[in-house]
Amino acid sequence: MSETNAFDNAIAQIENASGCCSNSDKKLIEILKFPQKIIEVSIPLRMDNGSIRVFTGFRVQHNNARGPYKGGVRFHPGVTLDEVKALSLWMSMKCAVVNIPYGGAKGGIIVDPKKLTGHELEHLTRGYVDKVFDFIGPIKDVPAPDVNTNAQTMAWIMDEYSLLSREHSPAVVTGKPVANEGSLGRDTATAMGGKHVLLEYLKAKGVNPKTMTVAVQGFGNAGYNIAKLLHDEGMSIVAIADSKGTVYNESGIDPMRALKYKEKHGSIKNLPDSVEIKSEEIFGLDCDVLIPAALENAIDHKIAKTVKAKIILELANGPITPEADIILKEKNITVIPDILANSGGVTVSYFEWVQNLSRDYWTLETVENKLREIMVNAFTDIYNFANRKKATMRSAAFALAMNRIIEATKNRGILS
Ligand code: NAD
Repeated sequence: MSETNAFDNAIAQIENASGCCSNSDKKLIEILKFPQKIIEVSIPLRMDNGSIRVFTGFRVQHNNARGPYKGGVRFHPGVTLDEVKALSLWMSMKCAVVNIPYGGAKGGIIVDPKKLTGHELEHLTRGYVDKVFDFIGPIKDVPAPDVNTNAQTMAWIMDEYSLLSREHSPAVVTGKPVANEGSLGRDTATAMGGKHVLLEYLKAKGVNPKTMTVAVQGFGNAGYNIAKLLHDEGMSIVAIADSKGTVYNESGIDPMRALKYKEKHGSIKNLPDSVEIKSEEIFGLDCDVLIPAALENAIDHKIAKTVKAKIILELANGPITPEADIILKEKNITVIPDILANSGGVTVSYFEWVQNLSRDYWTLETVENKLREIMVNAFTDIYNFANRKKATMRSAAFALAMNRIIEATKNRGILS
């Protein structure tokens, strides 16, 4: 098995967790290894200089036994069909972990958005919606932001879908700007959910959060916000990284200062009062908590051997390969798995969708209280299940999710 094929890794995670599922469910697990539908589209785009380029996009609908398909759209030059398949499978698991009534899907376009103008990006996004229009919809499949897509991208998706359907359709997509019926609290939701889960874990272990040192790889929506929230909790952020640079300061980095620097210089590279280190060195730092918040496969078996942190909070999707998981387990390092750790994002997406459909809008306090309750419950279920079954938290989270999806599948009679 290749360590870098995210879909192979997702299948291995299902197989590793199947031992925790009941015997009668085991034969149904096979269904979860196959996405229900794969859509591939070509999107022609007239560039600002008059030339024509054709981009490839995907939408993979993994499973809808528990509700409409749900999952983000990624713009990245490294997008592959296997990556989108893996991300769609993880979405099905994630929605089941937090027990919200959604299935799983994911989308992606092979593009380097940094090389497109704003006008080109808008037309590429609208072109994607035109191509997948028949397959998405407020109670069919609901996209959201992911790497290199944001609230603006979601506003274009909402607008294009509404134009084509001749109906105002805010519930077709989540992660919209608040001015366009987005939810308060969506921008920080992924990190906020991760924070709740980490704090619950530390509480269960009787550890004072204020004594923790933290390294964060990735300084975008997920990475910046978790660094800020944990810094606000009194933890010391000793290292941060983006795609251009990795910086370390033993006495702690102020994430808000780093963000201001990044906004001015395009990267955290050469951040004042910090030492530049090699990108892979962040994983081997002498710190308590390591947070991968960039892309898949960041921690492979070689990197895993260098990890010194005792806790890894997976804010990115699929940042640890199955081979690395084995090494981390042998080293007694706790992995708080992605399908739990970053599920705050889809949870507040669900809140946004509920608000759009009900036309009733909630305060930030309501959103944050509801998010906290869901994250604490999901953590408690998984932590207890893992202790009972003597399994890792990843296998416990997968098994719990698989049990829920299989139960819904059996009840619907798709396969009896
Ligand atoms: P983003 O585009 O806002 O940020 C990505 C960050 O990762 C950027 O700072 C980029 O420079 C950095 N990066 C990319 N390659 C890197 C590398 N090799 N080394 C170091 N840094 C690198 O994306 P995001 O929304 O923060 O998503 C990050 C991860 O979190 C992804 O795996 C995504 O699927 C996952 N996630 C995001 C959300 C969400 O709500 N945004 C929800 C769930 C999961």
